Amino acid sequence: MHSLPAVHRLLSDPQIEPFEALLGRASVKSAIAVELDLARCADELPENAVVRDRIRERLERQHSQGLLEVINGTGVLLHTNLGRAPLAASALDAAAQIGRGYSNLEFDLESGARGSRYGRLTALVQATTGGQDALVVNNCAAAVLLILDTFAKGREVIVSRNQLIEIGGGFRLPDVLERSGAKLVEVGATNKVYLRDFERALSPQTALLLRSHASNYRISGFTQDVEPSELAALGKRAGIPSVEDLGSGALIDLEQFGLPHERTVLDAIREGIDLIAFSGDKLLGGPQAGIIVGRSTLIARLRNNPLLRALRVDKLTIASLSETLRLYAAGRQALRAIPLYRMLSHSLDDLRTRGNRYAEILNAPEHSSGHAEHSSCHAELVEASSYIGGGCLPEVAIPSLAVAIADSHPTKRAAWLRANRPAIISRIEAGKVLLDLRTIAPEEDAAVIAALR
Ligand SMILES: *Cc1c(COP(=O)(O)O)cnc(C)c1O
Repeated sequence: MHSLPAVHRLLSDPQIEPFEALLGRASVKSAIAVELDLARCADELPENAVVRDRIRERLERQHSQGLLEVINGTGVLLHTNLGRAPLAASALDAAAQIGRGYSNLEFDLESGARGSRYGRLTALVQATTGGQDALVVNNCAAAVLLILDTFAKGREVIVSRNQLIEIGGGFRLPDVLERSGAKLVEVGATNKVYLRDFERALSPQTALLLRSHASNYRISGFTQDVEPSELAALGKRAGIPSVEDLGSGALIDLEQFGLPHERTVLDAIREGIDLIAFSGDKLLGGPQAGIIVGRSTLIARLRNNPLLRALRVDKLTIASLSETLRLYAAGRQALRAIPLYRMLSHSLDDLRTRGNRYAEILNAPEHSSGHAEHSSCHAELVEASSYIGGGCLPEVAIPSLAVAIADSHPTKRAAWLRANRPAIISRIEAGKVLLDLRTIAPEEDAAVIAALR
């Protein structure tokens, strides 16, 4: 019986070596390691040339493919690293249909003249949020930037000290404020802020009263905060717009999914906040976008800001976002078409039925007996906690079930699963590789089971 080729030989193989310049040495090394591992585990050791070809093919795939489809077994529903919200099938269809050919993106079919890119979306946002007017840009960060640039350049923005947040990807509210040319006026103490703190900070230079949603942290204990409605009322008295960076932007009450109440866009509008910015790909379950709703006079000023040209959304976003919003307008039943809400609606019984199927197939005797030394792929169903992610309800664990694989090298098995195509992302807990069934679509079960076998 021959032995497998050495790593350094493979690295200098003329068919493999060129990939170093394209993908970097670390990627080439890891592709070699994965294929050598696979070769070692095969029933019969493959020929060296076969191993080399497989490595080359793996590297070619890595080089030719940009974004790769991934199966999310982490249990985090809005996983920013995994692309946040999966889209509804009809939202994707809408994007495909518009993307395939030409559209009336900026063309008025009645008059035959130039039309508005944003008109259709505006009506849908109005219908689903109750806001007077709306504008859509690239993401929520862009929405905040546009608002600050429009109203607060060279002027003052009052923010409570306990809301000077940093969210994922290094988006720090104080830094964005500074870059937009606004002057930050911090009020209150870290744990306590009163309306009178805002009142005292008002000056002729005040442009905005800003609040941001404490999406990814909590201040607990001896605390005092200003209610959004109080802030909005103060703004009205002082003639200064109140703005909320809502981040997650739920349009429906999450209580219907057994979750705590998460402040919705409609709440913010009802409480009188003048401008609200939120993301399209968080709790809305749509494409990446930043949606601004609020008073029409203020939205009109945003629309006239030349910066909007640099932050505008493309036709694919408009098509898929419109369709996602249409699902909200169509009522509760239609919401199940949005993957986020479908995942939240899975009952533990549904998950258990699917999980039992995993165990049944993976633990079947014909499977484990042929690989006596790899019988470590024994699957059991364990209780797990899913999380919404995307900075929403960070402390709320959603009861879920996971397929757990006990393994003496859990990190290695997790790497194997990531090397699968489609890649499968697991999480490791107490030495076991866990695949949370809530974030794995039932249609993906077969692929996950095949990879585990
Ligand atoms: C997520 C979030 C943002 C940024 O949203 P993007 O759409 O990713 O730009 C801004 N503010 C808050 C409070 C957030 O939670």
